[in-house]
Amino acid sequence: MWRNWLDAKNNYMKLKYRITENECWECTSHCTNSEGYVKVTHNGKQSYGHRYMYEKIYGKISSEVLRHTCDNRWCINPSHLIEGTHADNVKDRVERKRSAVGTANGRAKLSELDVIDIFIDNITPKNTLAKRYNVDPKVIRDIKNGKTWITVTSKI
Ligand SMILES: [Zn+2]
Repeated sequence: MWRNWLDAKNNYMKLKYRITENECWECTSHCTNSEGYVKVTHNGKQSYGHRYMYEKIYGKISSEVLRHTCDNRWCINPSHLIEGTHADNVKDRVERKRSAVGTANGRAKLSELDVIDIFIDNITPKNTLAKRYNVDPKVIRDIKNGKTWITVTSKI
């Protein structure tokens, strides 16, 4: 599957990528360096595709380290990337989500990162997303339509 979401939606740098089974965004429009990271030039400066994407979605990277949770260096999916303290947050989030499963109302509460994941995912059907996050499909629709969580999605 081929997409050019960034270009179409946000006039970002023209990064094309294909989405793998693991939901990795493998960059197909730019070369990789000898270590396998995607090379980009932004405002005349050399950078990496995954760092560029991450900063576009989550803001400036404060840590020097930006890790791939998927171990795929070719991947530029921001939700597969974590930096220093952010990594701890994600870990917390995963643990919280796990403990939320099976609570009285069976509805997990969405975090900001969940909402971003949902908002930028134009591939997965809404009903599938609803099941994945254990929420009503209407919750997904409202996020996509900008009815809810606008303070989060308007930054994207
Ligand atoms: Zn990935």
